[in-house]
Amino acid sequence: MGDEHREADACVLAADPRAARALIDALPDADASWRASVAATRNAPPFVVVRLWLEKPVDADRPAFLGTSGYGPLDNVSVLERFEAGAADWARSNGGSVVELHAYACDPAVASDPGAADAVAATLEDELHRVFPETRSIPVLHREVLTRDDCTLITPEPWQARPGVRTPSPRLVLAGDWVRCEHPVALMERAATTGFLAANELLGGWGVRGQDVWTVPVRGLLAR
Ligand SMILES: Cc1cc2nc3c(=O)[nH]c(=O)nc-3n(C[C@H](O)[C@H](O)[C@H](O)COP(=O)(O)OP(=O)(O)OC[C@H]3O[C@@H](n4cnc5c(N)ncnc54)[C@H](O)[C@@H]3O)c2cc1C
Repeated sequence: MGDEHREADACVLAADPRAARALIDALPDADASWRASVAATRNAPPFVVVRLWLEKPVDADRPAFLGTSGYGPLDNVSVLERFEAGAADWARSNGGSVVELHAYACDPAVASDPGAADAVAATLEDELHRVFPETRSIPVLHREVLTRDDCTLITPEPWQARPGVRTPSPRLVLAGDWVRCEHPVALMERAATTGFLAANELLGGWGVRGQDVWTVPVRGLLAR
């Protein structure tokens, strides 16, 4: 939107955590302790995602998603054509596989040094050859590498200290994976859930019923 000025009755701020921190830091007259609780949130270390378009399919018995440990930076391997429509179309038309490799919590240098990111990407491919040995001899037709550091870091610090959906202003609410919510959800589910809760909060201000949000019981059956 650049410098465009828009009038609105209320706002759901659903930016990624770094952008949200910057926007809130720039808010005039924001409550100091709330602003501090936002500023105290941090981003997780960078991650690297490698997507490979392989000339031939991986073995038919490979799982669609495999979490790994003991394979260097490789955290998981996905065979995308097993659950993603675009990859499935490509695999059908070309007789190959689309494989995605993830490495989380990489060295911080990865975010700013393309050489360091390339080195992680190359290691991920080497580790794929150990996990699915048939990939050693399958040519890679196309490769995409993505490096980002835009995820929130959930730390052992008290959950209640994290900013929630409500803010000191009834006209501003927060949503996103980085925002506290009392439902037992995380990642995309927390992003979506806080989005509903944020909309409900604003709608409630106009006496409008929002979206029901269902969850599992958050207390054990035998809890006193
Ligand atoms: C490699 C990887 C794998 C993952 N796998 C899973 C998984 O399997 N399951 C799962 O549940 N979660 C997964 N996640 C986590 C999931 O992606 C996040 O939890 C989710 O994307 C968070 O959503 P969000 O809306 O909070 O933030 P984001 O998805 O970061 O969206 C925020 C948006 O705000 C926009 N924005 C920023 N600033 C502004 C501005 N000033 N104005 C307008 N827009 C702005 C950004 O461009 C962005 O589009 C994964 C994450 C990664 C990195």
